[in-house]
Amino acid sequence: MYDAAVVGAGFGGLAAAADLTYRGYKVVVFEASNELGGSAGKFERSGYRFQSGATVGMGFEPGGVLDNLFERLGLEKPPMKKLDIIMDVHLPDRTIHYYRDRHEWYKEMSRVFEGPGSTFENFYDEVFKVGQLVDQLTDKLPVFPPRTMGDYAYLLTLVNENSLRLLPYMTQTVEDRLKKHGLDQHRMFRTFLNGELMDSVQTSVEKCPAFLGFAALQTFHKGAFAVHGGLAESAAKLAAYIREHDGTILMRHPVHSIEKGEAGFILHSKRRSTFQARQVILNNSVHNLHDTLTEDLSSQSYIRPRKETAKKAWGAYIIHGGVDADVFQNTDVLYHQFIDPHHPDDLHNGGQFLLSLSEPEDRLMAPEGKRSFTLSTHTDITPWWESDHYEAEKRWMKEKLIRTVEHYFGGFTDQLDVVLPGTPVTFEKWLRRKDGKVGGYAPDGKYSWLSSYSIRTGIPDLYQCGDTVFPGAGTLGVTLSGLMAAKQAAKGLK
Ligand SMILES: Cc1cc2nc3c(=O)[nH]c(=O)nc-3n(C[C@H](O)[C@H](O)[C@H](O)COP(=O)(O)OP(=O)(O)OC[C@H]3O[C@@H](n4cnc5c(N)ncnc54)[C@H](O)[C@@H]3O)c2cc1C
Repeated sequence: MYDAAVVGAGFGGLAAAADLTYRGYKVVVFEASNELGGSAGKFERSGYRFQSGATVGMGFEPGGVLDNLFERLGLEKPPMKKLDIIMDVHLPDRTIHYYRDRHEWYKEMSRVFEGPGSTFENFYDEVFKVGQLVDQLTDKLPVFPPRTMGDYAYLLTLVNENSLRLLPYMTQTVEDRLKKHGLDQHRMFRTFLNGELMDSVQTSVEKCPAFLGFAALQTFHKGAFAVHGGLAESAAKLAAYIREHDGTILMRHPVHSIEKGEAGFILHSKRRSTFQARQVILNNSVHNLHDTLTEDLSSQSYIRPRKETAKKAWGAYIIHGGVDADVFQNTDVLYHQFIDPHHPDDLHNGGQFLLSLSEPEDRLMAPEGKRSFTLSTHTDITPWWESDHYEAEKRWMKEKLIRTVEHYFGGFTDQLDVVLPGTPVTFEKWLRRKDGKVGGYAPDGKYSWLSSYSIRTGIPDLYQCGDTVFPGAGTLGVTLSGLMAAKQAAKGLK
């Protein structure tokens, strides 16, 4: 009998398992695939290493969520580069250097956006102020939205002058705040913000609750990192810690179903093997919750399948590729965001996408003289499952993305070495996420945070974490929810 079983070795699951191991509990992690890290994992092909989804590391700065976790576990962080320019944002008629340093960023905003620089600074002053307040709250790992009397009671202990200052931002969208600053009609600034919010919160200014959007925007400036060998190196460190402290990680062990036994939960995995655990943390996304539980357990959850399915979640179209390093010899910037010249408001299906390059000297990622890269864009899921022209659509999207990169970096197309496109269909196969939905739910209004799912499933002793659970997507957000889930599971183990 294990104290805790964690289903899925994404960042959320690994953070939860490492935390419980640190607290002295006997933990088992089940991972369906043969790779750690899930959407922030890796695979290797043709001499290259490719990052399965996530490429930009967050929370590794001193005092950041991952930095704190590594410090507490006594782990050294993998080598990484802190980015001075988080990314270059290529808009129709200008390239914006998105600086990490606040003052450099303020200067850049004056250079690239028409209008008095002080207006953008005032907006960003607010972003930093609110972001800091949100961090102060989430660092305390409250269950949010609260579901039990205990959750409410704990939240009440966090209410103070500072947290009350957040209230106005919980009842407005980012667009509402733009209006207050007279910036809602500023097409370029709005387009820029939409690009950044889409990449971090999966939505645009008019649908994004202000406190979530501001927290995400300030996070870029606390530190964005390119991890040597990719984010999967951090996942490997967490996994090594779990194993070295008597934890078990079972690779290629999908959990097919979970039932409640007399002494605890019974998890059914491959070849009819069963495992028992007192507490369970699911990291395989809320999309998969009901498929993982027996009918009896499933019916105890407050999460209603029909409501869950109706919530908007994106899929991803991604190209993993290898290219001659020469193509990018004129830029030191590793991340490039492109906003389509013809459809600057269309943020998916290639209207907005990210090119992530491996560092030129990162030999874990690519052979000498080559760079490994990913091109990724949000995409609607349904057409990929219903189209009679799947292969043609996949090819069309591939050509569209490659053509855009070629426009900015001449020679790209000719110097391509490997090109591996993937769609939501691929993501479902890789990560078992239902319908290939990745990156969590897309907020759709100022109060949408109220219908977020917390780490509680509604089933005693069974928790969930990951990007479909508050605070949502990104390796930083899912690490937080993993820690929140572990904290609650540990209470049940005392
Ligand atoms: C294209 C793309 C780009 C992104 N870019 C960034 C970025 O630059 N920076 C960033 O911070 N975030 C980024 N993200 C978001 C980030 O990758 C995710 O939010 C985060 O990694 C999700 O972590 P998770 O804990 O929810 O688990 P997941 O990554 O979803 O992992 C879940 C794991 O569970 C396993 N699993 C599923 N079902 C079972 C089962 N039944 N039994 C056992 N195991 C199972 C899967 O194989 C998987 O390994 C990106 C995401 C995508 C898709």
